[in-house]
Amino acid sequence: MSEAPGVVSGTRRLLRRLRDTMAGSGTAQQRLERIVRLVAAEMLAEVCSVYVMRAGEVLELFATEGLRLEAVHRTRLRVGEGLIGLIAATARPLALADAQSHPGFVYRPETGEEIYHSLMGVPILRSARVLGVLAVQNRTPRHYDDDEVEILQTIAMIIAELIAGGDLISPREIAESRMTGTLPVRLVGIRFNPGLAIGPAVLHMPRPRIEQVVAEDVTAEIERLRRAVAAMRDAIDELVAAGGGLGAGEHRDILEAYRMFAADRGWVARIVDAIRSGLTAEAAVQKVRDETSRRMMQASDPYLRERLVDLEDLANRLQRHLSDRLLDKFELPREFILVARILGPAELMDFSHRRIAGLVLEEGSPTAHVAIIARALDIPVVGRVENVTQRVEPGDTVIVDGDHARVLIRPSEDIRQAVTANIEARGHRRASFERMRSAPAVSRDGIEVKLMLNAGLLMDMAQLAATGAEGVGLFRTELALMVRETFPSVDEQTDFYRRVFEQAGSRPVIFRTFDIGGDKVLPYLARSAEDNPAMGWRAIRIGLDRPAMLREQLRALIRAAPGRQLYVKFPMVAELAEFDRARALLDLELARARQEGRQPPASVKVGVMLEVPALLWQLSGLCERVDFLSVGTNDLLQFLFACDRGNPRLADRYDPLSAPMLRLLREVVAGTGAAAVPLSMCGEMAGNPLEAMVLIALGFRTLSMAGAAIGPVRAMVRSLDVAAAAAFVDEISARPDHSLKSRFEAYARDHLVEI
Ligand code: PEP
Ligand code: MG
Repeated sequence: MSEAPGVVSGTRRLLRRLRDTMAGSGTAQQRLERIVRLVAAEMLAEVCSVYVMRAGEVLELFATEGLRLEAVHRTRLRVGEGLIGLIAATARPLALADAQSHPGFVYRPETGEEIYHSLMGVPILRSARVLGVLAVQNRTPRHYDDDEVEILQTIAMIIAELIAGGDLISPREIAESRMTGTLPVRLVGIRFNPGLAIGPAVLHMPRPRIEQVVAEDVTAEIERLRRAVAAMRDAIDELVAAGGGLGAGEHRDILEAYRMFAADRGWVARIVDAIRSGLTAEAAVQKVRDETSRRMMQASDPYLRERLVDLEDLANRLQRHLSDRLLDKFELPREFILVARILGPAELMDFSHRRIAGLVLEEGSPTAHVAIIARALDIPVVGRVENVTQRVEPGDTVIVDGDHARVLIRPSEDIRQAVTANIEARGHRRASFERMRSAPAVSRDGIEVKLMLNAGLLMDMAQLAATGAEGVGLFRTELALMVRETFPSVDEQTDFYRRVFEQAGSRPVIFRTFDIGGDKVLPYLARSAEDNPAMGWRAIRIGLDRPAMLREQLRALIRAAPGRQLYVKFPMVAELAEFDRARALLDLELARARQEGRQPPASVKVGVMLEVPALLWQLSGLCERVDFLSVGTNDLLQFLFACDRGNPRLADRYDPLSAPMLRLLREVVAGTGAAAVPLSMCGEMAGNPLEAMVLIALGFRTLSMAGAAIGPVRAMVRSLDVAAAAAFVDEISARPDHSLKSRFEAYARDHLVEI
């Protein structure tokens, strides 16, 4: 946005005149009519028209200079219909020298527009929502340049405020034509984190209404912006220093990354440019933020979307600093459900996390920073809930059912009571699990089962003590990468792994090398778009193609473990040769550590994740090579059934409790048992008490799972007779049913197994 000075002063003059018009007398409709006349004259266009979005996604001509006046309030176009409808549907500007030859052109005889050849239109946006369309037309075919599109976008912002003022159409109609009033609403999204919560809704920063769009004094506005940016940076610095109310750990990295954005000169410079074009500081922040949202909605790259979320989050903060309307946390209800379109990680920490009972997001992905943090804090989250911020009123009772990816707004009294009772019961169960955390996980017939923790962030490590887990069975090292902006150096990695060891005390930790790729995208890794990322360039494949990166990680792990047991496992191994190559890299790093005279780990055990079915037919060779084997059923299931684990439409399509999976697992138990190779399970199956029951019956003796699952699985183990369950599994596991789940449930019920 580096306009020539002439354009800047021209825009400024136009904005001043628009401001005078806005502040002038008359109804909103009359002011709109004056605006279209003014814009037509200033932009040397024969036509200027404003279409406003009405209920039912219809664009109505509200004011025009140049088209026939009888068309006003008569001409209506559906979103997607004609060029105006296309601009609304895509939320993007359109500039055409010959509009009538565009395939989307629709002729409306009542407007008399057949004589106009060129058209430039822009969406009227607010909160990334399309409120209407502003268009100019010219009789002769002419080319509109980028500066003109920019100017029209700025004018559209002013019109957006006029529409949002609620005098042209009612605020309710603006809010959402599909708004369902006060009736209960049930919405479905995607599970970001399981759990159940109920509470009054707090809407995350309903965007402040901008009182004034056009600047009186550009220099003063730039100074206001400067002060607000400084105040915002100070506040973020404070948050970093305070650690966001959490223990020291990688959340600091997240906040640091966030602070980098706050210091991003490019972003602030774009806002300053917008002020120079004649906007107030608030309007300039909004303009840049709207551009950002537009880009965000178009970005397919998850990393980029993630960064843009952070930037939008910062824009929210900056607007609050400008308006001096900082959120008073003490006015918040004691426990609440936070409803937001998007949320940055710092924002989540800001809200004194203990009070957030549940979180509902319109956007996001399960791998987003905020979802990772929410998981570590055990806050149920449902994401990608369409239009939720427009369907919830502040204070509405909201139920977040993270287990089933559902959100209930204004539920009936009996549902509230049932959910409250369910939450209470969960609380009691949780308390009893905590009391039981040092009770041995031994079955009724004396079989001991090792319960381990799946972790990935430092803050997960507190779960070891809280749950009584015997160690970390799966440490997902890539999570720490995902919450950073740059790839960590060997020293930084060493420091991080050292802290993991410190927190683990004498308990073992099994580190899995980076499982990046797939949906876990890192900016510092060149990659091309993949049609099928889950089966693409990920995990050990990247590690072997970028051996320096894998070696650095192994070096850091070795350096962090002097005199300790070091366990390393490689993800997504598909063939023995891959394991051999990875192992050779580890050996090189061990040799290097010896040469450098470092104290080596007391012992090094190397294993693989069994996630790719091809490994099954290499099991005996594998058992000769590895020190242990971990089954990862999350990936194994998706490859076994050719069923994308991230696709919500396929979420319950195939059941691991079915003949093919049970047979596979049985063969793994037999193969590793014959070779005396320790076996564990660290996929989601291990944390589901019913599925864990079957795993133990099949012969698994080590299960690794999320912290919240350890208590329930421990209780299940203590109520189980393994020999009897094994006999039952033998009896039914070959049945051709779609799922054996109900049979296992019946078994557990009949035999008083706590599932
Ligand atoms: C698995 O695939 O089962 C597993 C534990 O790994 P992740 O879920 O991290 O892919
Ligand atoms: Mg996996």
